[in-house]
Amino acid sequence: MSTNGLPPYDPQNIFARILRGEIPCKRVHEDAFALAFHDINPLAPVHVLVIPKGEYVSAADFHATASDAAIAGFWRAVAKVASEFGLDATGHRLLSNMGNDAGQEVPHFHVHIFGGRRLGRMVPPG
Ligand code: AMP
Repeated sequence: MSTNGLPPYDPQNIFARILRGEIPCKRVHEDAFALAFHDINPLAPVHVLVIPKGEYVSAADFHATASDAAIAGFWRAVAKVASEFGLDATGHRLLSNMGNDAGQEVPHFHVHIFGGRRLGRMVPPG
């Protein structure tokens, strides 16, 4: 199983604590597979995070170890949230940072949904 160079899952990471209700979030969607909430430091008019309800460090970890139902349910939740924010017509960006080179800050798999304006280049020049 790949954790993209990150340590094994830490149940005290901030998104795990949000899932357990120990830390508040600005929730926009919740179902059996996923929780979605506004990013605390938004980088676009819409900046929502979607996290699965399970202990997965990164996207690679999630796709290697989650059940097919969990994977399908998670991605359906991502699409539903984007649609509910009206981003289907305008376009939007999904992003998941994995590991150190991507600058992943929180070691619980999450997908960023960005939208609401033209988003510019995919990756800023290094
Ligand atoms: P990443 O670099 O992909 O791991 O992104 C982590 C994201 O989580 C950043 O965009 C942070 O602004 C966001 N974040 C960190 N703590 C919180 C929190 N308590 N509630 C909402 N978003 C958070």
